[in-house]
Amino acid sequence: MKVFLSTDMEGTAGIVDWEQCVRDGAQAEAGRRLLLAEVNAAISGALAGGATEVVVNDSHSTMRNLPPGELAGQASYISGSHKPLYMMQGLDQSFDAAMFISYHGSMGAPAGLSHTYNPRAVVEVRIDGTVTGEAGINALVAAHYGVPIVLVTGDRCACEETALLLPGITQAVVKEHVSRLAAHSLHPDVACALIRERAEAAMRAAAVTAPPPLDPGVLEMFVRTTDIAEAATWVRAVDRVGPRPLRIQGPDRLATYRAFCAAILLTRAIAEAV
Ligand SMILES: [Zn+2]
Repeated sequence: MKVFLSTDMEGTAGIVDWEQCVRDGAQAEAGRRLLLAEVNAAISGALAGGATEVVVNDSHSTMRNLPPGELAGQASYISGSHKPLYMMQGLDQSFDAAMFISYHGSMGAPAGLSHTYNPRAVVEVRIDGTVTGEAGINALVAAHYGVPIVLVTGDRCACEETALLLPGITQAVVKEHVSRLAAHSLHPDVACALIRERAEAAMRAAAVTAPPPLDPGVLEMFVRTTDIAEAATWVRAVDRVGPRPLRIQGPDRLATYRAFCAAILLTRAIAEAV
């Protein structure tokens, strides 16, 4: 059984501030140790639940946050920037399950470090009318390939938002938000034990878990400025439906996700400038 882990970072127990999860300072280094422990807990649980091959796709910031040699289960590691499928790079129909580790709430959610891909560009995203965060957007790729997403770990908002689109998904809530820059986290050891237990149960249930039921998987995106909206329409499959709302629907759900990623990349420079 092959399992795919997409790992973010802001949903890790104990992480509450950007300094703990961006760039290369001492705080970020400590944050990466916390993330590594949670990723390894998920891997161990997946292996106990029947997984025989694990691929970890590092999806946070520069996307090289984990020491490859310290990944459990001899997991292979997809890292580095400029990955065409971004947070879902590496997933295809050969996988039996996918897991989202250390995910966080969407831009408008009352969640620690909340954002949706680019906090300077994206105000809100909906999939088929439901407000969602990165998990819901990334689920388009799993839906395309017919791979069930069996586990989400992170803060309560991330888990609850994910469950709105993927009913019944196994969750490991490792912290409760206090504000966008404060949270009440489980002790890291307790968080890891919870993740391991939930990952094992989720993996055992993978064979009877359905792929994400996103159909047709239309993505609506509300952006911060009209300049960002204008540039986004240069991408195929992105339509402007008002000054700032956009509608993205490709010929299939993978194409929709790719158009979304292209719009995020294309508008980055404009978003930084405003
Ligand atoms: Zn993220």
